[in-house]
Amino acid sequence: MTTEQDCLALDAADPLAAQRVQFALPDGVIYLDGNSLGARPKASLQRAQQVIAAEWGDDLIRSWNTAGWYDLPRRLGNLLAPIVGAAADEVVVTDTTSVNLFKALAAAIKMQADHPGRAGRRVIITERDNFPSDIYMAEGLLGWLERGYQLKLLESWSDLPAALSGEAGQQVAVVMLTHVNYRTGRMFDMTATTAQIHAAGALAIWDLAHSAGAVPVALNAANADFAVGCTYKYLNGGPGSPAFIWVPQRHHAQFAQPLTGWWTHRQPFAMQPAYAPVAGIGRALCGTQPVVSLALVECGLEIFGQVAMAALRAKSLALSDLFIALLEEHCAGHPLELITPRAHAERGSQVSVMHPHGYAVMQALIARGVIGDYREPQVMRFGFTPLYTSYQDVWRAVMVLKDILDRSDYQVDAKRDAVT
Ligand SMILES: *Cc1c(COP(=O)(O)O)cnc(C)c1O
Repeated sequence: MTTEQDCLALDAADPLAAQRVQFALPDGVIYLDGNSLGARPKASLQRAQQVIAAEWGDDLIRSWNTAGWYDLPRRLGNLLAPIVGAAADEVVVTDTTSVNLFKALAAAIKMQADHPGRAGRRVIITERDNFPSDIYMAEGLLGWLERGYQLKLLESWSDLPAALSGEAGQQVAVVMLTHVNYRTGRMFDMTATTAQIHAAGALAIWDLAHSAGAVPVALNAANADFAVGCTYKYLNGGPGSPAFIWVPQRHHAQFAQPLTGWWTHRQPFAMQPAYAPVAGIGRALCGTQPVVSLALVECGLEIFGQVAMAALRAKSLALSDLFIALLEEHCAGHPLELITPRAHAERGSQVSVMHPHGYAVMQALIARGVIGDYREPQVMRFGFTPLYTSYQDVWRAVMVLKDILDRSDYQVDAKRDAVT
């Protein structure tokens, strides 16, 4: 049996405990939603002040050069690169995850179409359980292309080997997967899966929305082809902060994406009507970036520069293991179903639990200061962000949940939360 004292002892021995003071967290809140919107690094307020008052206010347009605004997508990309196992000049921070996925998919399709042995392939594979925006973006692109491309949705991640084998496998151009599933928290083995995809002659695009800053990622070691991801989730970049896209050096020469705005031009300020793409990762940009929002991404990345990913991963697993153990000990008898894998190798940094009244229970938790979130159907998500979540937070969160469940202290909206 684990006690609250045990949790306090774990906190006292936690090498990451000191990081919590770098975040602005309101009193009385246990924040278990850093997988959706990361907490605010305290430094962001001063950084915003500097960008708005000094760089914009005083230095005006000169700041594109003097404050390094123009280079920001590349500079931040280089700060982010080690977090995802990328090399220098392979990542830019820009646009949204959805838009970057569009660029990556379009580029991958073109690479395959230009490949002598693979030009006829017309199938793009993803999971039905992928984050819907990824599916919508792919459908949008393929429909617009009108070249007979089809999106094949796997009913289960375990159907991938079959979909890549035999005659059907020879039709697959690209497989785009989300490394850690947003709903269940299940994680793919990126290296093994990429190898399977390559063995079938297809290219692998990884969405790292729930991986970057949450779990160790080694894009180059896994030999992945493209990757995209968010900065506003585990990387604490701020609401709607620009996303990132990774293109490995080995693909730079062939990399072409259709959103060829002036920021992808070799000489953007030459104002030439003739287009000539810049070499390298700059081709993944499009146009002028939201500088204020972009600048704040650095505050989160600076914190990651001070900690080792292995230490983050160890604490993340310890927090989610503790949560699962306490849940099973104290909430047994309630209709909770764990849908996140128990195996560490298959788990991201969140725990998802189904309850027939998941929505109502989550609303009750939030009302009592335990902030997680809810996803259809019936799923309560609890994100564990090792930089600012303590073992005692986990203890307290489970005790509040136990109290809510034991006393049925939640309001079921019959229309919204009907149990069928
Ligand atoms: C959060 C998330 C997104 C978000 O995309 P935006 O374009 O930033 O809104 C995309 N894909 C996945 C898998 C996500 O989890």
